[in-house]
Amino acid sequence: MSQNFLNYIGGQWVPARSGRTFWNHDPATGEALGEFPASALEDVDAAVAAAAKAFRGWRLTPAPKRAEIVFRAGEIIRARKEDLARAMTREMGKVLIEARGDVQEGIDMAYLAAGEGRRMYGVTTPSEMPDKWAMSVRAPVGVVGVITPWNFPFAIPSWKLMPALVAGNTAVFKPAGDTPEMAWHFTKILEEAGLPPGVLNLVFGSGAEVGNPMVEHPGIHVISFTGSTDVGLAIAGRGGALGKRISLEMGGKNAIIVMDDADLAHATDAIAWSAFGTTGQRCTACSRVLVHGRVHDELADRVTAKAKQLKLGSGLEPTTDVGPLVNRSQVEKVHAYVEIGAKEGTLAAGGGPARDGALAKGHFYRPTVFRDVPAGARIAVEEIFGPVLAMVKVESLEQAIEINNASRYGLSAAIFTRDVKSAFAAMRDLETGIVYVNHGTTGAETHLPFGGTRGTGNGHREAGHTMLDPFTEWKSIYVDFSGRLQRAQIDNA
Ligand code: NAD
Repeated sequence: MSQNFLNYIGGQWVPARSGRTFWNHDPATGEALGEFPASALEDVDAAVAAAAKAFRGWRLTPAPKRAEIVFRAGEIIRARKEDLARAMTREMGKVLIEARGDVQEGIDMAYLAAGEGRRMYGVTTPSEMPDKWAMSVRAPVGVVGVITPWNFPFAIPSWKLMPALVAGNTAVFKPAGDTPEMAWHFTKILEEAGLPPGVLNLVFGSGAEVGNPMVEHPGIHVISFTGSTDVGLAIAGRGGALGKRISLEMGGKNAIIVMDDADLAHATDAIAWSAFGTTGQRCTACSRVLVHGRVHDELADRVTAKAKQLKLGSGLEPTTDVGPLVNRSQVEKVHAYVEIGAKEGTLAAGGGPARDGALAKGHFYRPTVFRDVPAGARIAVEEIFGPVLAMVKVESLEQAIEINNASRYGLSAAIFTRDVKSAFAAMRDLETGIVYVNHGTTGAETHLPFGGTRGTGNGHREAGHTMLDPFTEWKSIYVDFSGRLQRAQIDNA
């Protein structure tokens, strides 16, 4: 049964001022799930005004008290984990065990961010002058704009909004059009946990009509964005020209290196999980394997066999390994790449949409493996964001690292080897934000920094001990208790 949802502005649940709406759909069945406000500039204006008003009080609320609300939200999420996971699977298709993991990241982040409320450490340091005190403290930036994608519809808002709120900012949140319901649950839970009106404002709508006005809005001081590299860089250009801080988490083309001394059975399991989990729609998904020439054929055979065994279906079915892609245009994009790939490498598994029987109404695509793919082939270089894996032969670790580092992207990379020298060389030389040894490219934990280099990011990291950085300004404070004029760099030189 479908439901009507509303924006959340200034503590009130309200429709778009224009009255326009859009629908979200179950990608496994095509069923319409809910109707959401199709908002525009006037709704963004109202949300920013509410956030600016709430900032005055929220900024002065003691950080441990702000954090207690986020902690309570974590408790509510934990109590509702199963319902939230099921709603997520219905809305964007990932299989239930992965949807539970996505919600679990929200719980982990709530507890982690709540702890910051009693830390948020500053730095004290001696002054060069007598009778003078020096310190630096974190201050909130003001109103934060949060723009998120659909592939981690609970975890990603948690990484951004929980630290931002604990730090004393207020926020305007625009989720992706394919996953508005998860954003609604997230916001409702924070309301229930006791967040004062206006501290978090939720505005549904498109990138053009809501995201873009947020980026250009003079009342928003920071934009925290996760999504594609092209959109992120365009946002950075427009927002940067207005002097805003723009924190970007963007695309990936993550590689697993498999050396000739690796445990191939273990590597196969990790490759299949990293490549086909969330139907390949993770920013950290493995979409290319850089495999030593001596074991390429054996590994390709193993990965192909594994891909062929994976069962497609609704993510709600316990026997399903791979759910649908999120929407029709993703199917088209993935298939266009597979057609390109057929001219570049050898198709070993999959290669097309799956439409038989119960799959007929969904956006299903067969787990696809290409072997003997040249390192420079488009399917080995460009982000596909679907269940498509390219296996590339390499002759040495150095060559694998060089290919990895030549990528436009730099999010996650992994190496399978039993040789400690190769492992440590890879840890040192792989130029990505995340490196795994004998583990696939997915599975980041919330208490370590998350983000990437080159086209994946612009130097910011989310979560971990860096979680407050995008959302705080450092303020240096000097207190002179000498009772006289003291001139730094002059009187004591
Ligand atoms: P997308 O770039 O199309 O959209 C992301 C968000 O930006 C959505 O909310 C969208 O409505 C909004 N948006 C679109 N155009 C906009 C504009 N002109 N101004 C402001 N906002 C705009 O990405 P997507 O398809 O939702 O997500 C998939 C992409 O996200 C992939 O490239 C994936 O790698 C990336 N991703 C990265 C990470 C990471 O942490 N690095 C995590 C998850 C996903």
